[in-house]
Amino acid sequence: MNRNDFPCLDVKVHNKPLVYFDNAATAQRPQSVIDAVANYYTKTNANVHRGVHTLSGEATDQFEAARESMAKLLNSPSEKNIIFTRGCTEGVNLVAQTFVRSRISHGDEIIVSEMEHHSNIVPWQLLCEQTGAQLKVLPFNDDGELQIELLNDLITNKTKFLSVVHASNSLGTINPIKQIVKMAHAKNVPVLVDGAQAAAHLTIDVQDLDCDFYTTSGHKMYGPTGIGTLYGKMEHLEAMPPYHGGGEMISHVTFEKTVYSPVPAKFEAGTPNIAGAIGLGAAADYILKHGIENINKADTELLDYATKKMLQVDGLRIIGTASHKVSVVSFTLKGVHPHDLGTILDHYGIAIRTGHHCTMPAIKHFNVPATARASFAFYNSKDEIDYFIECLEKAREMFV
Ligand code: PMP
Repeated sequence: MNRNDFPCLDVKVHNKPLVYFDNAATAQRPQSVIDAVANYYTKTNANVHRGVHTLSGEATDQFEAARESMAKLLNSPSEKNIIFTRGCTEGVNLVAQTFVRSRISHGDEIIVSEMEHHSNIVPWQLLCEQTGAQLKVLPFNDDGELQIELLNDLITNKTKFLSVVHASNSLGTINPIKQIVKMAHAKNVPVLVDGAQAAAHLTIDVQDLDCDFYTTSGHKMYGPTGIGTLYGKMEHLEAMPPYHGGGEMISHVTFEKTVYSPVPAKFEAGTPNIAGAIGLGAAADYILKHGIENINKADTELLDYATKKMLQVDGLRIIGTASHKVSVVSFTLKGVHPHDLGTILDHYGIAIRTGHHCTMPAIKHFNVPATARASFAFYNSKDEIDYFIECLEKAREMFV
């Protein structure tokens, strides 16, 4: 677990060493992930699951090994519960349009939380438009903590599904997923957990959480873009209809009737993102090798250090002050628009994110048009945070 494992951290921006604090948007990749992708293309490139020839067999072995690594990382009971997707967004859409669509009708209800990423709002709105179901929202308090005590009343006998984020990408809040799942299950409501931000920072045990579905995003957890996974309980995956139709997901096709492949192939129509999956497997192996507890400890130290230092900056307001957070700090600086701040910091070599972070309703809660967001990974350092604070002070002075 070493900063030197991540070659892109050595680049210069505006002739300054890069300070990469945009890890919640996308993390950097270790050399082992880059090598896994490059090796696949240079030494193994072939399609999976189809050929009898050697390369196809090797590509299939690597692809399936990646599924096993992801199963291990999530403590899935089997690798068969792991479906490769394009990312979290596709995972949510898949569940909305298969599992939930097949059991929802006019007047039924779906619950999401106020802090969801748009990818865990819009797919449910689309489903509501298609079916006449209604979207209900579990609110959070001014610290950015979900008001769990309201959940029991929010769930009615019309509630058919609940979808909630494990860790918020804009507020940093870590939600009490096990408790939420328990409350929902007590009323027979299945739960999807959006784990996009969690997989790079937190121990995930889908069996212990007892969630029905869990999505991950490769590029947030040091893997490639355009790849992720959907975990589902086997009884659901077997019962629900396929999402996309095509090759790979069938075992027999006639014009009269098609027999689908068993899970997980049933949900993986077409040639998959083979290199992406292999890269994701390498990212999971990287986390497993170094230990998520160690990664979490380093992240949390940086979060605590940065929070303390940032609160000493005049006019700085932290948006999202939950007691359990991943290493994400959204903030505003009095007198400086977040976009201007982002541009100024970029000139000092610092990459942060500005805007609504694809969580417009969450940002609206705080009556601000946008925030700046610094998000840390274990390979960042306290020296980088000190430099960031210095540059924040400079930016503030430019505008007073
Ligand atoms: N959920 C959350 C909490 C996220 O942060 C993101 C990415 N910003 C997504 C979902 C979407 O993930 P993906 O890029 O894999 O579609």
